[in-house]
Amino acid sequence: MPCSLLVDAVQVDVCLSASIGIAVFPQHGATAQDLIRSADKAMYRAKAEGRNTVRFFDPAMQAALQQRIKLETELRHALPGNELQLYYQAQVDGDGKVLSAEVLIRWQHPQRGLVSPVQFIPLAEESGLILPIGAWVLETACAQLKAWENHPLARDLKLAVNVSARQFRQDDFVSITKHVVDQSGIDPTRLKLELTESIVINNVADTIEKMHQLKVLGLTFSMDDFGTGYSSLAYLKRLPLDQLKIDQSFVRDISHDPSDAAIVQTIITMGNTLGLNVIAEGVETQVQLDFLQKHGCKTFQGYLFSRPVPLAEFEKLLIA
Ligand code: C2E
Ligand code: MG
Ligand code: MG
Repeated sequence: MPCSLLVDAVQVDVCLSASIGIAVFPQHGATAQDLIRSADKAMYRAKAEGRNTVRFFDPAMQAALQQRIKLETELRHALPGNELQLYYQAQVDGDGKVLSAEVLIRWQHPQRGLVSPVQFIPLAEESGLILPIGAWVLETACAQLKAWENHPLARDLKLAVNVSARQFRQDDFVSITKHVVDQSGIDPTRLKLELTESIVINNVADTIEKMHQLKVLGLTFSMDDFGTGYSSLAYLKRLPLDQLKIDQSFVRDISHDPSDAAIVQTIITMGNTLGLNVIAEGVETQVQLDFLQKHGCKTFQGYLFSRPVPLAEFEKLLIA
């Protein structure tokens, strides 16, 4: 931990380090005294194991922490090591025609194999690695849109890119995105950004401002996982959205859970009334599709049509 001190009016840089021991109540001590004793033991282990580090009193917690640190270290090498890859999942209309695709990141780990984003995106967010990774996803998606301009079956497709809260909250998110779009030379109306309700709820005014600035450029917006967050009607009215994406957890049980069926119908009606396109994600069966179509949903994404697949496989879907 670098810091500066003033000694006899001369600034001196010093470096401090800390050995930290962590104990958790009540597992590691029911009283304050016991808890401090456990934390103290953990701190001495931190000192014994090289200082300037952190140790849990509980070996299981320690193992989990070490596993996390290992994964984070490996994730740091993923981007420069070309281990990240984009998969494409089709978004279709009621006739099964591919209108667009969502790009979904995958990590081809040299030892672990294909790692799901569910495992590493939260880690990337916490560590800040999501910023370079997110920029890479955006650049790769834009480059693909540009390449498709010469592809007779793909030239009209749109691409949806997931944006995480940490990315969106950057002060220069708008200028970074604008730069990538300008550099790629794509038609910006073919790029859709998927936001989640957690992004919005953190700072509604900032979100609306950034969305407006990007909409002026031509980009469109989808509200991902809709219904799982706050789903406030007040913000829904104020956000310049183009699409609502019904979360797959509601679609899954649509045919046998009356509450899920009612939620889905409400979202479709509300979206249609507000002039928004509604897309259902996680559509796996014909029964789900029939229900959604019957209630006015016009766009779909899910294993019934295609799983997320590498680029070459996705392009084959366009021929079929
Ligand atoms: P998401 O954006 O809600 O993406 C939809 C997830 O549902 C994907 O999981 C997709 O593979 C899965 N899915 C699609 N159709 C079906 C279906 O019919 N049934 C079932 N059971 N699942 C289906 P995936 O690819 O594992 O991604 C998980 C999450 O990771 C994404 O959820 C998104 O939040 C995040 N993610 C993925 N790629 C990126 C990225 O490039 N940037 C950021 N920030 N987040 C990403
Ligand atoms: Mg998404
Ligand atoms: Mg989703």
